[in-house]
Amino acid sequence: MGTYGDRGNARVLEQRLAWRGMPAEVVVVAAGEEIPDSLDIYVLGGAEDVPQTLAAEGLMASEAAIEQALDAGAAMLAVCAGFQLLGRTYVRPDGRAVPGLGLVDATTVAGPRRRIGEVVVDTARPDLPVLSGFENHAGITTLGPGVTPLGAVRSGTGNGDGRDGAILDRRLIATYLHGPVLARNPALADLLLTWVAGALPPLDDELARRLREERLAAAEPRRGVLARALHGLSVVTGFVR
Ligand code: GLN
Repeated sequence: MGTYGDRGNARVLEQRLAWRGMPAEVVVVAAGEEIPDSLDIYVLGGAEDVPQTLAAEGLMASEAAIEQALDAGAAMLAVCAGFQLLGRTYVRPDGRAVPGLGLVDATTVAGPRRRIGEVVVDTARPDLPVLSGFENHAGITTLGPGVTPLGAVRSGTGNGDGRDGAILDRRLIATYLHGPVLARNPALADLLLTWVAGALPPLDDELARRLREERLAAAEPRRGVLARALHGLSVVTGFVR
């Protein structure tokens, strides 16, 4: 699964290692292929309901390999549909219940409308500054009582109860944020990398900083309205010209 450029998350991890002189290989697992147990970081993206249902079958078929990899210290990032499939079940809008891996004590039910737009999430972790991303989903996710959310939603919907995602000691991070989320949030990428590669030297993240600044401003309703108005003005000007 990889809607909205989620495949970019793997690319970001690969590039941030390359910039530090550490080679990495991205292994793409196509639908129907077994998921190997030998990878260091597993990256799951989002998808619409039909490919998500197919992916669920593939994940369930590789459950033992995934469990083994996580037990051996691998890390995992799951976005949107990927997050939903790490939970116990995802109930689609047509009522069909898609079983998930149950790695996260969570259940998701498709709500009556799609949640689309920018999201800003405050985390409680000092190593994770405010997270920026965008969401496009119908699912509302309920975490079990012992599950720590990734953060509190300042703007947008996330899980649907004011919180977004989940973070497990088992080196597992789940979120509703697309972006790709690791391109917008290099600290999140480096958290995953340090879990499997140890301490890493800092990088010059000026471009990501500018992207974050622009996206975080767009998530603020008033500034967003102004940006849209200016965009509309430039479209009208272009039309008249
Ligand atoms: N099918 C899911 C939903 O709409 C996931 C969508 C997504 O991954 N963007 O809730």
